[in-house]
Amino acid sequence: MRQSQLFTKTRREIPADEESRNAQLLIRAGFVHKEMAGVYTFLPLGLRVLDNIAQVVREEMNELGAQEIRLTTLQDKELWDKTGRWSDVVIDDWFKTKLANQTEVGLGLTHEEPLTNLLSQYVNSYKDLPLLIYQIQSKFRNELRAKSGLLRGREFLMKDLYSFARNQKEHDQVYNQVAKAYDKIFKRLGLGDRTYRTFASGGSFAKFSDEFQTLTEAGEDTIYLDYDKKVAVNKEVYTDEVLKELGLKRDQLNEVKAAEVGNIFSLGTKYSKPLGLNFVDDNGHEQNVIMGCYGIGISRLMGVIAECFADDKGLVWPAVVAPFNVHLVRLGDSPAVVKAAEELYTILTKNGGGVLYDDRDESAGTKFADADLIGIPYRLVISDKTLESKKYELKSRTGRDAVLLNKDELLKKLA
Ligand code: ATP
Ligand code: MG
Repeated sequence: MRQSQLFTKTRREIPADEESRNAQLLIRAGFVHKEMAGVYTFLPLGLRVLDNIAQVVREEMNELGAQEIRLTTLQDKELWDKTGRWSDVVIDDWFKTKLANQTEVGLGLTHEEPLTNLLSQYVNSYKDLPLLIYQIQSKFRNELRAKSGLLRGREFLMKDLYSFARNQKEHDQVYNQVAKAYDKIFKRLGLGDRTYRTFASGGSFAKFSDEFQTLTEAGEDTIYLDYDKKVAVNKEVYTDEVLKELGLKRDQLNEVKAAEVGNIFSLGTKYSKPLGLNFVDDNGHEQNVIMGCYGIGISRLMGVIAECFADDKGLVWPAVVAPFNVHLVRLGDSPAVVKAAEELYTILTKNGGGVLYDDRDESAGTKFADADLIGIPYRLVISDKTLESKKYELKSRTGRDAVLLNKDELLKKLA
């Protein structure tokens, strides 16, 4: 992509109405646009990052054998009445609206009800199970506070996976497989060394749920972390009784701030029972399906990554999620420089990974400041000086030092 054609521009000044660092940076660098509190538009650079995160998650879901679908945003009140969850007392962050004929509908904030109901038309026998079904979709929640940028949206992108098993043992196996996939996802996203499985409250069907908490001061959760054992306990279940049960010692635990990037929950028959999701087992008996749900905050992850990987100059994207692999910066507009830069742009475009080509008429200072703010992993400078030396100057966004490479070395390095 040519930067001269990118309609977004970087900004030097911090947006006055934004207190979270992730949103400040993402707005200044032109990744997102704030529509209103907790509601963000994803711009060309930002959408690439969001899609890259979603793609990592999608690959690991598919690896589990999960099937991707897309449920509807508009939700049927009658269905949610069956589980009691239409009530604003039970769920306090619904957005609700009405059809022209006054029928009430809600905007989807999670999707246990519609998916369970849908499956009751397809699942009959034990031979139809187990099943793993997921989607990546915008959720709508009327959150009380939306001051953490992408970490807490009123409209946000979530991956929600649901599992359907024949019995508790089968459910437990699936649950553990998904937990492993989650570890893999956070590792691939560069968050492996700061994301911890955390015991949290389990709802009515299990003693605990598992949260995946990434350490960051921007996080809204407080967890108690044992660095050696690599497990944590959420403040909400942090009691002497729970610590004893988990074999954790109070003096080994560190109180830290974290953001919940994912969570997994055993649901038992909470939804399958009221919504009639049953199957006939191999003895001919009718049984309720045992369910689990597994969320990952895709847009929250983008905010968390921005919080974790940034310095005083701007964003520092891990390669897997970066909008482009290389930022090609042309300095000056002598015919030789333009020709060399255009040639390299063509080659690198075919090379995969993607290249953002700064072909604008701006000063070196402006171009470098923008490159640092945008945070693409590699910056490649072409100028009269580099042409003279017959070398390309490549600098990683994380490291200070630039290396001079010849063309072969360069292409090898960026392959
Ligand atoms: P939280 O305690 O942070 O409100 P939650 O328990 O409501 O999260 P779930 O309903 O289980 O979260 O949603 C699954 C995942 O979606 C969460 O782990 C989180 O990563 C993400 N998520 C939840 N609420 C939001 C939000 N308002 N904005 C962005 N991401 C969110
Ligand atoms: Mg919530």
